[in-house]
Amino acid sequence: MDYKQVLENLYDIIASEENDGAIATYIPELAKVDANNFGVCLLSTKNKEYGVGNWQTKFSIQSISKVLSLSIAYQIFGDKIWERVDVEPSGTPFNSLVQLESDAGIPRNPFMNSGAMVICDMLVSYYENPKEDFLAAIRELCSSSEIIYSEAVAKSEASVGYRNKALCNFIKSFGNIENEPEEVLDFYFHICAIEMSCQELSKVFMFLANPNFTTSKGTKVLNLSKTKRVNAIMQTCGFYDESGEFSFRVGLPGKSGVGGGIVAVYPGKYCITVWSPKLNEKGNSYRGMKFLEAFTTETEQSIF
Ligand code: GLN
Repeated sequence: MDYKQVLENLYDIIASEENDGAIATYIPELAKVDANNFGVCLLSTKNKEYGVGNWQTKFSIQSISKVLSLSIAYQIFGDKIWERVDVEPSGTPFNSLVQLESDAGIPRNPFMNSGAMVICDMLVSYYENPKEDFLAAIRELCSSSEIIYSEAVAKSEASVGYRNKALCNFIKSFGNIENEPEEVLDFYFHICAIEMSCQELSKVFMFLANPNFTTSKGTKVLNLSKTKRVNAIMQTCGFYDESGEFSFRVGLPGKSGVGGGIVAVYPGKYCITVWSPKLNEKGNSYRGMKFLEAFTTETEQSIF
């Protein structure tokens, strides 16, 4: 398959069409990003890399980080994590509070903000220096020391994060947060504020695509059974109340973030990351969705 040709053709077509949607402005720092950025990077399990547009520009990965925190927590704690967070699609927006009351503080899945906070709480309890230790784990996954937190984005989100603060306190009231909400939220805002390029994200997600993946230190991240489960949660919950739509249109497990990034994984074949900051009304990248739909249609490859 000549991925390069397909990527370049689709990029030109989609870049020439209207760029619908709106940049996330509820985090003031994210509003400063140039809406015209558009990048794609595909990394195959055979280590062939193809990039188009702004594929090497770093951006705020936001909720894409939730796959990394989940995977690292899953590696550390195993199946015990499912006692505190479920694996059902919520059908609600990412920052929803509604189901928590009837579900007694057990979030529906680890990719909603509520579920990600419970996972963050586990990591805060586990690590000696949560922010430093988590970043070190991500750097090891990516074989790169260039991965950083944007302190400006983390601070900006904290300054307006009333809803996330409500979520964390609410879950704490049910006893499903062990640490002080301030500490969990600080960690959560930081992992959302990690900056990576499409190139780096495709690399960092390779452990979910390549069954033989090992980190720069030679360690395996998740075994095949755990890899299957994380990919399954991405398939069913990666796009909040647009998860069904993404499955229907793209047919791959994936995860979006309000910074405009989307990573999709084709187990055994490749990781692909698209970045375009304008979001549709569900908070997913307009061009990202469009590009990935066209890509799996054009290549006639999907897991289904
Ligand atoms: N940090 C963002 C928030 O909590 C992440 C949301 C997202 O990317 N969907 O609102």
